[in-house]
Formats: sequence, structure tokens, C-alpha cells
Amino acid sequence: MSVAGRAHDLASVAIGDDGFLALILGDGEIIQFHPLLLRDACPCTTCRRAATNERLVDPTTFDPALQVTNVAACGGPDAGEAIEVQFSDGHTSLLSVEWLADHADACGQSSEPAGDLTLWDASSLGDIHSATWRDAFGEDGSQPALSAWLDALVSVGVALVEDVPADEEHLVAAAHQIGQIQASNYGVTWQIEATLEPISEVESQRPLAVHTDLPYRALAPGLQLLLCVHADVKGGASTFVDGYAVAEHIRHHDRAAWDILTTVELTYPYVRTEIEHHGRAPIIGLGSDGRYDQIRRAPDLVGVPRVGPAQTPEFYRALGVWNMTVDDPSFEIQIRLKPGQMLAFNNHRLLHGRTAFALGSSGRRRLIGCYLALDEVHSRRRVLARQR
Ligand SMILES: [Zn+2]
Repeated sequence: MSVAGRAHDLASVAIGDDGFLALILGDGEIIQFHPLLLRDACPCTTCRRAATNERLVDPTTFDPALQVTNVAACGGPDAGEAIEVQFSDGHTSLLSVEWLADHADACGQSSEPAGDLTLWDASSLGDIHSATWRDAFGEDGSQPALSAWLDALVSVGVALVEDVPADEEHLVAAAHQIGQIQASNYGVTWQIEATLEPISEVESQRPLAVHTDLPYRALAPGLQLLLCVHADVKGGASTFVDGYAVAEHIRHHDRAAWDILTTVELTYPYVRTEIEHHGRAPIIGLGSDGRYDQIRRAPDLVGVPRVGPAQTPEFYRALGVWNMTVDDPSFEIQIRLKPGQMLAFNNHRLLHGRTAFALGSSGRRRLIGCYLALDEVHSRRRVLARQR
């Protein structure tokens, strides 16, 4: 759906022999609607509560043989183009052409699982969109700056903020400019601090292979904010890979592997003293519309695949294709974060890791972070678009 409100010029409108309403758009595209769908979409104050858009009628009570008896184009530059539709039950509806066109887009049978996202690899990404704290997030921040930043974040899956006061208070303030923080078993916010005597791999100075966070959850956190507080070490760059780009590469080069990676579930047993998750999902998760949804990868947390004996060899072959592709340096970008820089990235799409580093005798590497659900990002974008 086009948040930016693509212009949909209406050329003409007609009722076809099949009883469907046909809108002919300025670019020649013809979109059709069944009368029941149009009647269901009526936004009038009899059908929907004005302030909240809550439904007031039950669409299963409409006459199954409902017809459109008359239709006329109306509306103006301010209200946007609309059509007035009269139905055989006596009801009249005013429907926005933009809404109808977006609905038709959403119902289209797209064969492109990446939709209109901008996929990237190491050679094509270019500079990550960057905004300063003051311009986009601070008290005097502007809505256009935040909108542009969110647009870039959605399109490529990652965006950067510069000059963030490097403490937890400002991490939380940045998150709240987008939406509500999603707490996890790591708390509301969390930190990664390297130590010379690590208990876990993440606290060590060793490299971390690119991975996604919390793959054992049914719905892994969608957005991760990562603010650099200290980076007084040699090495330790953050690494990122576009998981959707890797998936598309495999789809085009090895369809059999892609079919397995999008359907066979891996298990993610995660058992600690006060917590026990047994997540399961394919490595490449598709949504109900066939689009890429949640990528999962965690070589250290993964269990075994839920696959029968006949398909087992093919699964491990496909897993090998996935590992080889996702770890191919041609897909990876590296960013060496400096104190005051904050990265935001889509944990359903991007995989992240780090290169090795050396603490030395007095070095310090500390990052703080938090998670939000991805629909908080989409909600904020729509609200900002509406306010424009
Ligand atoms: Zn109505």
C-alpha cells in the first residue's frame, strides 16, 4: 500500500455486464470491484462511527444479489477524487479513488516476494540514510526529517542517527518518537559490553556471524535500535546483510533450495532458568501474501529441522546454500559505529553481526539497545503522512 498517496487519476467509471464496477484510471489501468465489497467499504456515518471508524453494520447481512444501480465521479482537488455509488438496497456510498486503487494493488497476485522494497548487497547499498538527532528526533526535530528517515528505514531496512546523546535516556526517547518499546527476556533496554572474561559469546572479543535476534520467539522483535556509547577498541565493526536480497538470490539461482528454505521449519529450543521457548519457523518466512516476512538465523541457538527422512538430505543441501550465500562477503556491509551514532534496523529482514576486536589493556566497547514491533514504524509513517 502506498503510504505516500500515489496519484490515481480517474478517467472514467462504468458498470460492466458482469455487474462489477470498473474504474478506468488515467494510466489506462482498469480495476474492478464486486458490489458487495464496495458496500462493505462504505465509510458513511451509518456504516462506521465517525471518530473511531468502528464498524456499525454486519456485511453478512447484505443482500448477496446486491447490485450497483448508479455511479458517478465526484470529489475535488481538496477531498481527492471519489465516486458516489448507489446500491440496489437503497444505500449510497462515497468512496475514495485512492483507497480503491490501493485496495486493488493489495489484492493483486504479485509474483514478487520482495514487493517494491529496495534490496541491496555490498556494492549497491551506497550511503545509509542518516539524520541528526536534533533534526529528526530532538524536541525541535522536524516531521519531514523523521518521515524521510522512516521511509529509508522501511525501504532498505536500516537507517542511522548521528549526534545522539549516548545514554539510555536518549535511546528510550528515540524509540518513543517511533512508538512503544517491546520488552524482551533481555529487559526493556539492554547492553552489550565486551569483557576480557566473557560468559557468553556476545561479551567476547570474537567475531559474531550475521544473525537475527530472538529467533525462538513466534514473533521476533521487528525493529532494533542500537546506540554506541563506547567504542575505544581496535576493530569491532557492525556487519549487516540484507536477508531478503539473499533470499531473492537463492530464488533465482536455486529454486529447489528456496522452496525448502521457505517451508521446512527449524526448531529453536531456548531454555534458561526462568524461561523456556521452543520456537519453530522456516529460515525464510513468507507472509500470507507470499511476500518475504521474517528471516531467522542463529547458528548457535538453532535446533534440528522438522523434516521427514525423504527430504532430509535435500534440507541440509539447502541449508548449505543458505549459509554459503548469507556469509558471502559480497552481501555484507560493515559500519564502525562511533559513540553517539545509533543504528535502527529491521530484525525481520537484516542479519547483523560484528567483526573481531581487541580490547587491549584499557579499551571499552559498549552498545545499548532496545526493540520495537515493526508495525510501530508503519503506524508512525502513516500518522506523519496524514499530518502533512
Ligand atoms: Zn454507508
